Amino acid sequence: MVTCTKCNNSFEPTPEQNSLIEQIASKGGGLVMLNCEVCMKLFPYNAPTENIQEDDVGETPFLCPVPHCGGWVSYIDDETPPFYGCGECGSVWKDKKSLDKDISRISKRYAYRTAAYKWVDRTWFPASYEELPDNLMEQIENEPFDVK
Ligand SMILES: [Zn+2]
Ligand SMILES: [Zn+2]
Repeated sequence: MVTCTKCNNSFEPTPEQNSLIEQIASKGGGLVMLNCEVCMKLFPYNAPTENIQEDDVGETPFLCPVPHCGGWVSYIDDETPPFYGCGECGSVWKDKKSLDKDISRISKRYAYRTAAYKWVDRTWFPASYEELPDNLMEQIENEPFDVK
């Protein structure tokens, strides 16, 4: 529903108006001139910004590099100091460097694990979910628990 700023009546935009609004929204939002269906006048409608969550792109979780754990490691930055933690096994890494070290270790030990990570510019990145082999979790479940 959009509200006309001239007569304050709300109406359902036509398919043409909707596609106009979506077009502006996808470009970052802004004003669109719409014809009010109630008073027939043109009025400016503020198209909202489409929710492009660019911030989330860099926060894809890492597959936990602990043997037998198929959990996900995420960056916990609402704690001081921030850290990386796995919600499944409870492991924590104080920084990316120590997480990278464990990822390198597990990838050497179980080659199929490398499918979950990408080595770019001397640091590990998580692979996207679509790239994960179907049987990856099965293989992880068969790993022995880490005995230190
Ligand atoms: Zn109106
Ligand atoms: Zn874990």
